[in-house]
Amino acid sequence: MTTPPICNYDGSNYQKSFWERSGREYEDRCEAIALKRLLPRSGKLMLELGAGAGRNTPRYAGFERIVLLDYSRTQLRQAQDRLGCSDRYIYVAADIYHLPFVDGLFDAATMIRALHHMTEPWRALQQVRQVLQPEAAFILEFANKQNLKAILRYLLRLQDWNPFTLDPVEFAELNFDFHPKAVYGWLRDVGFVIEKILNVSHFRVGFLKRVVPTGLLVFVDSLFQWTGALWQLTPSVFIKSHVAPHMSRGLEIPVDPNAFFKCPQCGHKPLIEKRDHRVCPHCRREWRVRDGIYDFREP
Ligand SMILES: [Zn+2]
Repeated sequence: MTTPPICNYDGSNYQKSFWERSGREYEDRCEAIALKRLLPRSGKLMLELGAGAGRNTPRYAGFERIVLLDYSRTQLRQAQDRLGCSDRYIYVAADIYHLPFVDGLFDAATMIRALHHMTEPWRALQQVRQVLQPEAAFILEFANKQNLKAILRYLLRLQDWNPFTLDPVEFAELNFDFHPKAVYGWLRDVGFVIEKILNVSHFRVGFLKRVVPTGLLVFVDSLFQWTGALWQLTPSVFIKSHVAPHMSRGLEIPVDPNAFFKCPQCGHKPLIEKRDHRVCPHCRREWRVRDGIYDFREP
């Protein structure tokens, strides 16, 4: 089974260095507003893909249980420190191209600031759709290559790549910006129905963020977010979609989280529960459970 390259934040202090120490309050607050507008009010089991250190997790308060998935164990440990270990949160280290969950399990999912690390985003979206119930909500954020700054730079010949073409642009290693139409196409191809689009972070410009009060920028951004229905020219775009009813079969959500999992390599379920690992009875691979983290990265 092949795996595209994965952006791994293991050992990184991304939460502190990117979010807390580099003036990202404006972006964080704009995202909070967009999420509030798009999230279902309540639900049973949410899958947070690319959860990182759990920055957004408290915003899913309407959900009974939340599975935080990230490739990085370091990030998940920081999330544990922030959120604590209770039955409400389940921490899973896994590769998004091989999700370790049974089909039709979750009644909602989010993927915020994660798609832009993927070389094969359509493959990841296919995996997400498969683990969702029919009509489950999916909130996806992506980095938009067709943003105003990129368009201006292109027109002024300060940038060689074309923001209007559908191909992704890799602006740094394993960091991609996508064209909105490409993302909508992938979503539809794998079985999602798009409901709503919001434009987010209109004023992601260092100068503006320094001179205009953050509260004012956030307020104006929140008004402009609704223009997502008409055009998409912001660096960040949020999409709410749901699984087309015929594309998935629902599952009664098990009480025991052990019943959530399948073998990410061979797809077999259920796995056999051992004290500090799970065993796949079909391919005999063993998956570690350590410090409250289910680790499905390598057998
Ligand atoms: Zn297996």
